[in-house]
Amino acid sequence: MSQSAAPGLARKDRSQERQKRMIAEHFERLARAKEEGRKVVYTFVPGNLTEIIGSLGMLPVLPEINALQSGMRGRSAAYIAEAEKAGHSEDVCTYVKCDLGMLRSGNIGPTGTKLPEPDLLLLSYTGCFTFMKWFELLREHYHCPVAMLHVPYQPNGVITDAMRTYVVEQLKTQVIPAMERVAGRKLDTEELAARLRRSAEAEDDLVAVWESGRHRPSPIDGYFGGVYYIGPIFSAFRGTEEAVAYYRELREEVAERIAAGEGPATPDGPLGNERYRLVIEGPPNWTSFNDFWRMFAKEGAVVVASTYTRVGGLYDTGFRHDASRPLETLAEYCLGCYTNLGLPARVNLLERYIREYDADGFVINSVKSCNSFSAGQLLMLRELEKRTGRPGGFIESDLVDPRYFGKANIENRVQSYLQMVEARRHGAYA
Ligand code: SF4
Repeated sequence: MSQSAAPGLARKDRSQERQKRMIAEHFERLARAKEEGRKVVYTFVPGNLTEIIGSLGMLPVLPEINALQSGMRGRSAAYIAEAEKAGHSEDVCTYVKCDLGMLRSGNIGPTGTKLPEPDLLLLSYTGCFTFMKWFELLREHYHCPVAMLHVPYQPNGVITDAMRTYVVEQLKTQVIPAMERVAGRKLDTEELAARLRRSAEAEDDLVAVWESGRHRPSPIDGYFGGVYYIGPIFSAFRGTEEAVAYYRELREEVAERIAAGEGPATPDGPLGNERYRLVIEGPPNWTSFNDFWRMFAKEGAVVVASTYTRVGGLYDTGFRHDASRPLETLAEYCLGCYTNLGLPARVNLLERYIREYDADGFVINSVKSCNSFSAGQLLMLRELEKRTGRPGGFIESDLVDPRYFGKANIENRVQSYLQMVEARRHGAYA
């Protein structure tokens, strides 16, 4: 749910160059996987078990990331058309159709190399029913084993002992044994612990980056810029030395910007004049990502915090991977992903961001594809306005289907919303 270094950013930071290299190397490893005898696991971003996959010497492929990359590279429309031709309805999540269309078109990944077939479909079920249907379709095609981790939904934002035990038991008795069978070796618990320690180290640095959004001006854009920051930790790199080095470098760059009083990078250079501080809920549109970003940046609007950047792990509420209790910590990680939270917990989190990051208001980007995000967002809008007294804006678009990104309409809405924020500031509605 993030991507490699930002195409179109005016100036690339050192960390972005590093991330670009890391991701290119990962796809090269995938391209060589079969000849080198390495096993490949397809798995989703929320609730991923990257440390276990890595400890068993296997390589992950994350289908949502391939889909969003195809969206950013202008290939998703053709892939979606291909899937619709094969009978998938217009209402299906466009990540799924993009992935299936890519498969029918030769399965060439975002960097131009062919993706290897999966040896295992690892389904960590964190709140989205579509995940199950998606892997059912891939299973029909690949005829490979599936391991499923059923993660209970968190209706009230509380992880109970029973929930944790239920997930730990599945890991112990079903999921890890299934992964070991495919890997052809036993899980090395020392290696897993080392990876979990490195995960926590990178998570500390990522949280420092998120919390920098409290500064004025904010040195980061916690949504448009933030999707780049989550790239390594939400995908193949959590628990690796490369991720530790990436997040250390990113944190240092952000500290340099704070010291220099600089705003974040945008597609047209650093944001020099912070006029609006916003919180955003919902995933971004990927097919017109830079256009969407510019609509905010050119008005001096910076996103100080967002929920989408918590979809693969919620670290700024205190969670860290803990090597001293490996399975429990992995269970808590899976349970705590944003889309596994019920509406009350989501509203509480957004309220916290609006207050703690001193936002002028919040915007919901409601994407047509994703029920997991979009269900209940109007209710969230009303509740947040009531609780915080700050105005909410509502935009509709899609993840990777360009037919649902109406540029003029969305730009109008953004501008009207920012005018409303301005008017509130001057007491026009007081
Ligand atoms: S419906 Fe949403 S959460 Fe589910 S696969 Fe699609 S984008 Fe991901």
